[in-house]
Amino acid sequence: MSNATDKKEPANESPIRYVNLYESEEKVYIRKISGFYQSLRRYAGLPLMLGFLLLPWFTIDGRPAILFDLPARQFHILWVTFGPQDGMLLAWLLIISAFALFTVTAFLGRVWCGFTCPQTVWTLMFIWAEHFCEGDRNKRIKLDKSNWTVEKFFRKTSKYFLWLIISFITGFTFVAYFYPVRELLNGFIPYFDDAGFLVVDSFTAIFWTLFFTGMTYMNAGFLREQVCKYMCPYARFQSVMYDDDTLAVHYDTERGDPRGARKPDEDYKAEGKGDCIDCSWCVQVCPVDIDIRDGLQYECINCGLCVDACNAVMDKMEYPRGLIRFTSDDELENGKTKFLRPRVFAYIAILIVMCSAFIYTVANRKPLTIDVSRDRGAQMFRVRSGQIQNVYMIKINNMDRQAHEFIVEVDSDQPFTLGKAKKVELDEGEIFSIPVRVSIPQDALTSIASEIKFIVRATDNDAISAQEMATFIGPSVTPAEVSK
Ligand code: SF4
Ligand code: SF4
Repeated sequence: MSNATDKKEPANESPIRYVNLYESEEKVYIRKISGFYQSLRRYAGLPLMLGFLLLPWFTIDGRPAILFDLPARQFHILWVTFGPQDGMLLAWLLIISAFALFTVTAFLGRVWCGFTCPQTVWTLMFIWAEHFCEGDRNKRIKLDKSNWTVEKFFRKTSKYFLWLIISFITGFTFVAYFYPVRELLNGFIPYFDDAGFLVVDSFTAIFWTLFFTGMTYMNAGFLREQVCKYMCPYARFQSVMYDDDTLAVHYDTERGDPRGARKPDEDYKAEGKGDCIDCSWCVQVCPVDIDIRDGLQYECINCGLCVDACNAVMDKMEYPRGLIRFTSDDELENGKTKFLRPRVFAYIAILIVMCSAFIYTVANRKPLTIDVSRDRGAQMFRVRSGQIQNVYMIKINNMDRQAHEFIVEVDSDQPFTLGKAKKVELDEGEIFSIPVRVSIPQDALTSIASEIKFIVRATDNDAISAQEMATFIGPSVTPAEVSK
């Protein structure tokens, strides 16, 4: 059992903590607490959770609002479709997300971890289910120590069943970001084929749904704080982003120590005691099983639960709130936090520039790109009709969200002509290469290498067009000689 004061080493005794890597983790029993930060997490988490659950069900132009279509190598995000050619944009999006995380961390510490990280949100959701089925912290400890009874069996199985439902909804929703949700749902319904066998469609999607169901069940049900402590890389390098003015959860040692129990009307200050009554509530509510009174620790996810717990205790004792609070090292030492500091300004400025550049690039993204390459196998051809001919390969990439018919044209101050009108119909997001032959009468050529412009446009929408210059290679003799 953990979350109890008796397992804690005395504060400040030694800065070195010894960890037995082969020791199995003790189960953490978290005390339920309500307060400002718990409500904040609930209200911040609710729209995020609803967004996660509902987004795959929304459609835009008949397509899921968000769909990472891996087989087609297309990512549909709201009104924009990213293809393989947009790898750089997607890389930028990830860099911007990482930088936003660094900016928030420099300012508010690990609030992402404590308030919005899925591991925390799902763990707290599973703990809610645990509390609902097995009762409060003391009841859960007692239940785990007790012998198996019908009641214990019923309480445990109902908890695991509730976890399973939450895990399945999570796994299903996650896969629905990669597989259209309605097809995924239909794929789960078995039917008899012509040979009389019971079959299900979408075996792969079902496999991944069950896989992510299992992962959710294991991570939020059993691994919990161990993911944050031992698996998450972010916990390890977050300290690089902290400075003396970063807001994080701190225990006010000067005000709280020396700690100790007291009688209700005792003049504890005269006894030399601080405001901490050593009730251990701050430890009992901590989801990562640490004692914040030992100082800032890398395990702390800034969830604020210990702040709520301690404030509740302070209210009962009629002491001022804030013995544990979001504050900075600077404030604890010098009485004030520098909120507006060069480092934060620099982070915000860089973030604004990166976001603006990204939005501008996406907003001005053309729905059509072409790539023209000349057939390198044959520099040029002389054809019987007295024409010189070059062959080109035109790669057309329809990045629009609907199918179009495209036509290829050439433009030049010389009388180039296409072999025949080249039309091709492409689905949304489709890439297709077509060969085209360009000819010119031999005596009309004015130079060995001539510039020629290829234009590709949608026949139903002139605004969707693209052009690219290419070189037409003629014979390395004069036109007069060519005509001989
Ligand atoms: S909850 Fe507050 S009073 Fe109780 S042990 Fe923690 S710091 Fe001390
Ligand atoms: S020490 Fe407090 S803020 Fe940090 S993880 Fe534990 S409960 Fe959350």
